Amino acid sequence: MSAESERALRDSLPTQLLIDGRWTDAASRATFPVYDPATGLAIAEIADASADDGIRALDAAVAAQDAWAATSPRERSDILRRAFDLVQQRREDLALVMTLEMGKPLAEARGEVAYGGEFLRWFSEEAVRIAGRYGLNPEGTGRVVVSQRPVGPCLFITPWNFPLAMATRKIAPALAAGCTVVIKPPELTPLTTLLFAQLLQDAGLPAGVVNVVTTTRSGELSAPIIADPRLRKLSFTGSTPVGKKLIAQAAEGVLRVSMELGGNAPFVVFGDADLDRAVDGAMAAKFRNIGQACTAANRFIVHTSIADEFARRITERVSAMTIGRGTDETVQIGPLIDQRAVAKADELVTDALDRGARLLTGGRAIAGPGTFYAPTVVADVAAGSAILREEIFGPVLAIATFEDEDEAVRLANDTEYGLVSYVFTQDLARGHRMIDRLETGMMGLNVGVVSNAAAPFGGVKQSGVGREGGLEGIHEFLSTKYTLIPVA
Ligand code: NAD
Repeated sequence: MSAESERALRDSLPTQLLIDGRWTDAASRATFPVYDPATGLAIAEIADASADDGIRALDAAVAAQDAWAATSPRERSDILRRAFDLVQQRREDLALVMTLEMGKPLAEARGEVAYGGEFLRWFSEEAVRIAGRYGLNPEGTGRVVVSQRPVGPCLFITPWNFPLAMATRKIAPALAAGCTVVIKPPELTPLTTLLFAQLLQDAGLPAGVVNVVTTTRSGELSAPIIADPRLRKLSFTGSTPVGKKLIAQAAEGVLRVSMELGGNAPFVVFGDADLDRAVDGAMAAKFRNIGQACTAANRFIVHTSIADEFARRITERVSAMTIGRGTDETVQIGPLIDQRAVAKADELVTDALDRGARLLTGGRAIAGPGTFYAPTVVADVAAGSAILREEIFGPVLAIATFEDEDEAVRLANDTEYGLVSYVFTQDLARGHRMIDRLETGMMGLNVGVVSNAAAPFGGVKQSGVGREGGLEGIHEFLSTKYTLIPVA
């Protein structure tokens, strides 16, 4: 990647708010910098919206709602399909922007373009298949007509770790259903959403259907929008504590909510597992996105009979990983998002070691520039260690052990989260038992990555409510209407 092509792309990116189809400054003209976490240097200066700007964006979404809901499903489908094609055409640019603002290696950023783009294609196909129901009531006196209507204007708040996919996973089904949108991207990685919004415009999306407001004051901007009676739906992806606050705010207007929150995924390896598969799965489930994924395996729960061999093989792989700026094609581990994330990883590792865990590799921050933490493996992690309770959100793999299936289930479910679980076993009956027994919204059985646009993504317990993707995803943006017609 040459410095010139990087600069040329940066200079071409939109940096303003998108309101009612026009790129505009914040009313106050305030701006804020976006940094490259691999260098610590600013890469862009973008509009810093106030609460008033947020309400202007909602005004535009409300004004566009009826006309957008009245478009034909085919028209909405065609726009989404064109957006999918444009995302493919601009694949390299989108990937580079993500690497620059978020830090993930380019190969992974390209993977996110493929995954994130797929929601546009999937929901372009779902837009024309929104079905209702027609039937006779049991008494034979009335015809029951069930139809689906768009929910109405939506507010989306997204996190920094998957800058494209977290936006497309919400925007695509909303547009397919006939809803308009205000999206507030994360302040740390707003550039990808801005570029994607430009592609939506290029795809022919009418003015006001998607509005983008970037800000450093998320809470100040979102609270008045959530309190506005014209808003119909709030969809949030981010941490559980912020999600709880937003659910409380949404309760006032009895808003529909979707919440994709934090995780603490168990990765259970039984003694009968195919170890090669388990190690490959572990590397993907732990180190994808530099460990900064809600689906990242957080607790490795490994049967005592194979724990040493598993740890040995993992350590061999982890200690060979290449670290650096993600623009270098050979890099596997980029920087963490900021200094706070480095301090958190360090704190969790230190606590585990203080409680008797063994450090097998890594275990230290890497001197700057940039916010890097060495990929780390700790084994024999004691019950009660903070690393088993909290989201690590970094490249740290923590191994604990179990003796029998009941203990594995108890340990796996011992968390307030329930997003995803990974299980490795070659015993089919045991695999099925684990599907039933684990408290989880998603499960990978002998695989370390489960995300797919055609599947319902989401959690149970404090990992959230609602599903994104799959057949279920569009229903988050539809409300059911029942009409009774008497039989004459
Ligand atoms: P975060 O909760 O700090 O921020 C998420 C978004 O909310 C950002 O846009 C932020 O600006 C905004 N925000 C923060 N405080 C707010 C407030 N008081 N009012 C309104 N908006 C506010 O989370 P993050 O650090 O950006 O992302 C990491 C978290 O996201 C992790 O917990 C991770 O597990 C979770 N996550 C979940 C999923 C999922 O699908 N379940 C996917 C990705 C990330």
